[in-house]
Amino acid sequence: MQHLNNQLAELAQQGLYRSRRIIDSPQGILLQIDGKQVINFCSNDYLGLANHPDVIHAFKKAADTYGVGSGSAPLICGYNSAHHALEEELAAFTQRDRVLLFPTGYMANMGVIAALVGRHDTVFQDRLNHASLLDGGLLSGARLKRYAHGDVEHLAVLMTKPTEKKLIVTDGVFSMDGDFAPLPDLVAQAKAHNACLIVDDAHGLGVLGQQGGGVLEHYALTQNDVSLLMGSLGKGFGTFGAFVAGPEILIETLIQKARTYIYTTSFPAAVAEATRASLKLMTTEQWRRDKIQHLAKRFKQGAKQLNLPLLHSDCAIQPLIIGDSHLAVTVSNTLFGQGFLVSAIRPPTVPQGSARLRVTISALHEEQHIDSLLDAFDKAYKS
Ligand SMILES: *Cc1c(COP(=O)(O)O)cnc(C)c1O
Repeated sequence: MQHLNNQLAELAQQGLYRSRRIIDSPQGILLQIDGKQVINFCSNDYLGLANHPDVIHAFKKAADTYGVGSGSAPLICGYNSAHHALEEELAAFTQRDRVLLFPTGYMANMGVIAALVGRHDTVFQDRLNHASLLDGGLLSGARLKRYAHGDVEHLAVLMTKPTEKKLIVTDGVFSMDGDFAPLPDLVAQAKAHNACLIVDDAHGLGVLGQQGGGVLEHYALTQNDVSLLMGSLGKGFGTFGAFVAGPEILIETLIQKARTYIYTTSFPAAVAEATRASLKLMTTEQWRRDKIQHLAKRFKQGAKQLNLPLLHSDCAIQPLIIGDSHLAVTVSNTLFGQGFLVSAIRPPTVPQGSARLRVTISALHEEQHIDSLLDAFDKAYKS
C-alpha cells in the first residue's frame, strides 16, 4: 500500500493523475455535471446517435422481446437472431464477406491479433496505434516492431528481416491526432511482402466516406487490399460493442481461435437491435457527415486566425497541442469553469511532451458552439 501510495503521489506530481466526472444526463451536446450544464466537446458519439429516439426505441423494443442478459458466450447460447442480423447488415455496409461481433473494440483487437500470429511471427505497428492494438501484439507473443508514425519507408526497412507470418496493424484515423494512416502505401507494402493488413477504423466509420464507410471507403480500398477491418460500435454508431469484417476464412478462424470471442458473454441483443437502428441512420443521413465537415472547417479556420496550436486533421477529431501535462489540465479546468467539457489527454495515452485538449466535433453542434469554444480557448490558453 505504501508503494502504491507513493506511485499515486508521483502521478499527481507529474500532472498525470486521472479522475472521473460524474455525468447526470444522457450523452449529447449538453451534459449535466455537478448540477452544472456544460457544452460537450470530447465525446466519440460523432453523429449524435447515442441518444437518438429511433435507437432508444429499437433498444426498448428488443429488451421487451429478448430481455436484457444474453445468457452466455456466443458459442454456447448467447448468439441471438438480433446479433446475426446485425452481422449481416454490417457485412453489407462494409462490403466484406462476413462480420463477427465482439463485446468491445479492445477485446476485438486483442483477440484478433493473438489468434492470427504467434511466437515465430512479426507484428508491425504504427507508433501511435491505439493501446488495444499494442496489447494485442504483446499478448500474441509475436515479435513487435513499431514504425515511426505514418512512415511507410521506415516500415519497409523493418520488413526486410525474415520472419514467418507478417501482420501490419494500424489505426485508420488516429484516435488522438485525427490524421489518416497512409493506407494506399500500406496496402502496397503489405502486398509486396505478402503480409496481412488490419485497419482499426474506430474513428472513421460513420464519419468519413459517402456512405459512412470510413477511411477504407475514403480511399476506395476493398477486402483484397485490407484483409481485416475493425470497427468499434461505441463511437460513431453511438451504441456499444465492436465488429471485425473480412474474408470467410479469417472470420471462421476467429470463431475457432480468438479467446476474447470464445470466453466472454455476448453483449445484449437489445444493443444489437439499437445498433441496427443507428446503422440505418448512419447510412441514410448524410447531413450528419456534412455537418461535421462544415463545423470542423469552421473550427480550423477560427483556430488558425487565433494562432492556436492545431494539428492537421480532416475529421471530427481536432486536437489542440499544449505540451505540458499540468498546463493541459489547467486549460481544461478553466474551460470547464466557462461551461465547456474538453478533457486533457496526457501521456502515456499520447507521447511525452504532447499533452493536448482533444476537441471532438459532433453533428449536433451548432456554429455558435464552435465560435464560443474558440473564444473561451483563446482566453484560457493565452492567460
Ligand atoms: C476506442 C478505440 C478502441 C476500443 O474500442 P472500444 O469499443 O471502446 O473498446 C480501439 N481502437 C481505437 C483506435 C479506438 O479509438
